[in-house]
Amino acid sequence: MGDSVHWFVVQCASEDEAQVRASRILNWLIEHKIVVASPCPNTGLYPPGAGAQGYDPRIEYCGVQLVPERTVFHAGDSGLDGLACPSCRQVAAVEAIAWDDAVGSWFAGQDDVTLSCPACSHASRLHDWQFLPMPWAFGNLGVGFCNWWPDEALTQALLAELGADVRQVHAHA
Ligand SMILES: [Zn+2]
Repeated sequence: MGDSVHWFVVQCASEDEAQVRASRILNWLIEHKIVVASPCPNTGLYPPGAGAQGYDPRIEYCGVQLVPERTVFHAGDSGLDGLACPSCRQVAAVEAIAWDDAVGSWFAGQDDVTLSCPACSHASRLHDWQFLPMPWAFGNLGVGFCNWWPDEALTQALLAELGADVRQVHAHA
């Protein structure tokens, strides 16, 4: 069995803002005893704290990972079957749409990059396209729960703490 990561992805205006928000969310996680105050030297992850739920104590590679830099959070070995247009909802086949160019442009710094739909010709922001079968997200900050499945209460608390523009990605490696 490979590792699974449940990412909470925030777009953030800049990498400076991402650093600030990363330390803010880490402090919040420590305060609420969801993670312990220092990372595990073996895994580099912040292990679950006394108030944590939803993890398996038998799995050593378990904890929270913070990625405060521009990252394509993709679904790992779930792959990519197609992309659903935010305008007409039609699903474009991977080979029928220039998604990889758009992802490359975003990664190079073009925050407002768009992708044109082969069905309706409408150009929508890359962020608004739905990657299938599992969503992807593009952001400057990722808070990843490695081999740890946050319950509904923790998920809602994190969404409230991280702000409105948060996407969730389930990655599997
Ligand atoms: Zn369309």
